[in-house]
Amino acid sequence: MSANMVDIFDYESLLKRARENIPPVIYSGERFQLPEAEITIEGKNTIFRNFGEFCEKLDRDPQHLSKFLFRELGTAGTIQGGRLVFKGKVSLSDIKDRINQYVKTYVLCYECGSPDTILKKEDRIEILVCKACGAIRPVTAHIEIKVQEEKIEEGKTYELEIIDVSKDGDGIAKKGNFTIYIPKAKKGQKLKVKIEKIKKDIAFGSIVP
Ligand SMILES: [Zn+2]
Repeated sequence: MSANMVDIFDYESLLKRARENIPPVIYSGERFQLPEAEITIEGKNTIFRNFGEFCEKLDRDPQHLSKFLFRELGTAGTIQGGRLVFKGKVSLSDIKDRINQYVKTYVLCYECGSPDTILKKEDRIEILVCKACGAIRPVTAHIEIKVQEEKIEEGKTYELEIIDVSKDGDGIAKKGNFTIYIPKAKKGQKLKVKIEKIKKDIAFGSIVP
């Protein structure tokens, strides 16, 4: 084996490792950039205001994406113009997670990662065809990959590690997108914490004795 060959193999394995280390969030990146989801709550409904823009950007049927979101979020709703209306309250982070999941499953080529793909249906099987590299793969082969959920709920207790202390002396822990403030907790402690209140991605907890 020549020295060149070794280099090529190293490069390939480096590339593979680099791909594996790409975080699940795909909101940035030069080639493929999704707009920020605009979510508002109106009465008892949650409105995904720029839903149409997402469908256009992803080049996918709004019905397909909306069905996926309803199923994955365990809710119902309707498409109204370019907006998607969910029944009930749905959090922005949940919607973002599901969109990322959708993109990974139904849009990005499994081989080369290109978003330049076509979703086809043959004999009831959905197939992703990549225009960039030519790869053809049934969608079902990939669908088990789910975005890891890190949710917290008010009134529930979690095992948390205090990673920092705030200016006011409260312990700070992290879980998923949430930053949790816990009075009297000290840095480095691992504690059972009851979530007292959640406001967007900030939560307040108390130590469970
Ligand atoms: Zn490809």
